[in-house]
Amino acid sequence: MKINYQGKKAIVRVDFNVPLDSNYNITDDTRIRGALPTIRHIIDHGGSAILMSHLGRPEKKLLPDGSIDKEKFTLRHLVGHLSSLLGVEVKFCDELVGEKATKMARALQPGEVLLLENTRFEPGESKGNEALAKQLAELADVYVNDAFGTAHRAHASTTTIAQFFDQGAKEFGFLMDAEVSNAEKVMSNPQRPLTAIIGGAKVSDKILLLERLIDFVDNLLIGGGMAYTFLKAQGGQVGNSLVEEDKLGLALKLLEKAKNKGVTLLLPEDSIIADKFDAAAQSASANSLAIPDGWMGLDIGEKARKAYADVIRRSRTLLWNGPMGVFEMEKFANGTKAIAEATAEATKNGAFSLVGGGDSVAAVNQMGLAGEISHVSTGGGAMLEFLEGKELPGIKAVKG
Ligand code: AMP
Repeated sequence: MKINYQGKKAIVRVDFNVPLDSNYNITDDTRIRGALPTIRHIIDHGGSAILMSHLGRPEKKLLPDGSIDKEKFTLRHLVGHLSSLLGVEVKFCDELVGEKATKMARALQPGEVLLLENTRFEPGESKGNEALAKQLAELADVYVNDAFGTAHRAHASTTTIAQFFDQGAKEFGFLMDAEVSNAEKVMSNPQRPLTAIIGGAKVSDKILLLERLIDFVDNLLIGGGMAYTFLKAQGGQVGNSLVEEDKLGLALKLLEKAKNKGVTLLLPEDSIIADKFDAAAQSASANSLAIPDGWMGLDIGEKARKAYADVIRRSRTLLWNGPMGVFEMEKFANGTKAIAEATAEATKNGAFSLVGGGDSVAAVNQMGLAGEISHVSTGGGAMLEFLEGKELPGIKAVKG
């Protein structure tokens, strides 16, 4: 971070969208911890921090009378824990903008931290409303965006607000900076071979990503439910496996494109099949192109794990999005585990690895291997869009 914070008030967009239990206790504080270095940097350098974040989707879970459930979605639930993590008594304002927020922001002294109410209590937030963004901007001297997870949304607090600050008065926080620079390590001039491992449920969710990756990766390893659309497109018998019939043509096109570009695209040679989608299903091993009727592929098989792990071990840059199987069920978690282990091993041997996008992050966390990956992204949808080559509005607004 480059701005001189001495005597300045910084309005900081953080991602404090943490899970809460029914008593409003935080069940996973990873996102709060992720923002601490940025907040500490500001207050340790003589500044004060005004924090804003969304929490949940209050606009989608209205009370029966149509109003916002302020008790459920208030950021007040986070004040105690945030204060103890920071070692600073965090002040709380029960509005995002307005007289009270202005007064509290004005009174803020160097070293102090103020948390504003849930950004999504204001209908203008998700519309990227200028008047709201201006009111927020007026609370502070500088703007810091440390919320990579919402960088793909052109909201008032993530994007519009930045236009009210000069180029020298806005910057990324440490978390955002790390996300962007690590994604760029994969996207621009990566060390080769570069291997992408793509899994998850559906091809349709990852079309743009696959198309884009084929343009610049050396190897593309496909697993998860989406593999069966490719296998069926090639004439395989995939039984009751997850198949998107309307994407068979697209799958063939992607296979053709990979061939033309000289990309090594691997599909799982074998699968762990099950007689039903159930943790207690009967399971067996089968050739992925000859899955009997009534059975479905729920994980990549042993031969596929070995073949994928060999490619991973020989790679210098690795990008992984999406599990190789139904990893939430122990019986079908081994393929994902094998990929996580091979990725950790390659990383130990000097490769750069990035795991991005929802479920693969959950998988490496579940397997206790997150610490052995070069970068585990905090932003699911945002990372996916970044890797698809889209310009994220929250990033553009600060970078100019
Ligand atoms: P995604 O959000 O697209 O990354 O998909 C993740 C989900 O895909 C996880 O919940 C997995 O259980 C699921 N999944 C992975 N492999 C399969 C498979 N072979 N059949 C059905 N679902 C799968």
